Parts: sequence; C-alpha cells; structure tokens
Amino acid sequence: MGELDTLTGSALAQIRAAGTLLELEEIRVRWLGRKGTLTEQLKSLGALPAGERPAAGAGINAAKNALQLAIEQRRGELAHASVEQQLSSGAIDVTLPGRGELQGGLHPITATRLRIEEIFRRAGYEVAEGPEIEDEFYNFEALNIPANHPARAMHDTFYLKDGRLLRTHTSPVQIRAMQRGKPPLALIAPGRVYRRDSDVSHSPMFHQVEGLYVDQNVSFANLKATLHKFMEAFFEQDLSMRLRPSYFPFTEPSAEVDISCVLCRGAGCRVCKQTGWLEIAGCGMVHPQVFKACGIDAERYTGFAFGAGIERLAMLRYGVNDLRLFFDNDLRFLAGFAGGRW
Ligand SMILES: [Zn+2]
Repeated sequence: MGELDTLTGSALAQIRAAGTLLELEEIRVRWLGRKGTLTEQLKSLGALPAGERPAAGAGINAAKNALQLAIEQRRGELAHASVEQQLSSGAIDVTLPGRGELQGGLHPITATRLRIEEIFRRAGYEVAEGPEIEDEFYNFEALNIPANHPARAMHDTFYLKDGRLLRTHTSPVQIRAMQRGKPPLALIAPGRVYRRDSDVSHSPMFHQVEGLYVDQNVSFANLKATLHKFMEAFFEQDLSMRLRPSYFPFTEPSAEVDISCVLCRGAGCRVCKQTGWLEIAGCGMVHPQVFKACGIDAERYTGFAFGAGIERLAMLRYGVNDLRLFFDNDLRFLAGFAGGRW
C-alpha cells in the first residue's frame, strides 16, 4: 500500500505539471491506459494471497479514481487557458479596420429607365407594364398593322411555336391600357423588346419607352411640348427640337423627333455626324383605327403616342459610344456607374 501511495503521488504531480492537452493525454495513457502502471497493478492482484486482495483492490481503484478526477480537472484548466491564450495573442483583433464593402450600383440601363419614369411621374403619367410574350393582335393588328402589311417585315419578329411572339415594341402596352381604362389616360410603358437583329448598333433584346396621352382636345402641339420638356429634363440642358414628317401605321400624322446635339450643342460633331441634330424618338397622333380596336370613340377623343430607345438615351446621356457595352456586363465598364446619380 505504501508503494501505491508513492505511485499515486508521483502521478498526481505529473498531472498538475502537464503543460498541454497532448502532454496530459500521454500521462493518462501511461497510468490508466491498457498497459498503464495502475492497470498493471490491478492485473497483479491475482498473485496476492486471497485475504489481501479486497483491500489491495479497493486501494488501487481509489487511486485510479483520484487520478481520473485530477486529469479531468487539469484538462478543463488547459482548455480554458488555450482559449484565453488565443484571445490574448490577438488571433481575433477586434480593433482592426474592416475589410471594406464593394458598393454595387444600378445598371446604366436600369438607371436610365428609372430616370425617365421619375420625369414622367412628375408630369402626372402612370408607369404601365405589359407581357413580353404577346400575340399578333396586340403586337400588330390592334396597332393597325394587319397581316401582309409591309411594316411586319420590318420588325424581324421572333415567333414562338404556338404562333405567339416576343413583342417587337412596347406599343402593345398602349392597347392593353386603352382596353382597360377610359380616357383621360396618361402613361408611359418602359420595357424590353426583341428583334432578330444583331450588329454594332443592334441587339436582339433592347429597351424602349412608350408614351401615350389620350383625352379630349389633345393636339399635336401638346405632343411637341411634352417631348420637348421631357428631353430638356432628361439631358438637363436647353435644347432645340424639330419634327420631321414620317410614317408609322399606328399614328397619323407621324413624325421623327430630332433634338439639337447634346454633346456639341448643335455645332456639329462626330456623334451627330456634323449635322448638329440627333434622332431621338418617333411620335404621332393615335390613329383612329387604333382607337377603334380598343373601343375608344375617335370622334370624341384624340391622343398622342411616342416611343424612344432607352439604350440610345443612355448612350447620349453617359457618352457611351458602343451599344454592346450595356450587355457585356464587364465590371470595368459598369463600375463607372456604381453608386452614381441617375
Ligand atoms: Zn454633335
């Protein structure tokens, strides 16, 4: 029994001195493992006279329990110290500055669309939406473009197998709005449109904004004033505007809208091809046939409609000279717009 006390004392001293969890585990194996010193002692009980075995066994078990308790205690201390040490050694330095955040931004086309919406909302217009998958009635027939009309060929339409199509312009939204509501109507419809066309200045998907105003006594002068005010608000400068006679099936009379070049202010530059003018939109008075298709009394109401390309407006406002930059999603290009004002 005296020998056991000496062994136990030695083991306890080693446990208390263990500096790491690994060291502690080695000590545990040395004393309590399958071939550990105390385990060997238990095995040797069989060699003792039968009368001495119970007392010797109880002593060894008591020593074993004492060592186990001491190991658990020391393990707790070491684990705690390890956490403390990690914290104090600065593995996590809460005083360091943050890694920073990359600021995202709206895509310039989205920003341009929102800017257009904001200007027209201030003038009392609603913003309307319509489906991008349309049928021939909304995309063509109701807009006075019957089958075999030459204008259909100009639209390079994507057709679906079931005969529906991807809208080639935002004008179908006019039709839906006039079917739904009664005049007065004042709305713009910005959105994606699709044409089978792809080169330097054409993308198979692009954005248009459509405008429609229908009421009693709406005149061509109202149309001109509305577009002029819009262009000046959009480009934030005084502009000259001129209308050239044109043809669209859904308006009569129709006109192309030019504004004085926003870059050279009319003096002549590369962008306006030295003319001082920029083509910016198409417009006209709503055709009576279109009113008829929507159930609006063309004797009582008149209205104007216009359409412009959002990419074109964005290119001129931001000085972007290649349409494809808007669709490449090159971050070096897009980063120039991040966090910016519309
Ligand atoms: Zn110019």
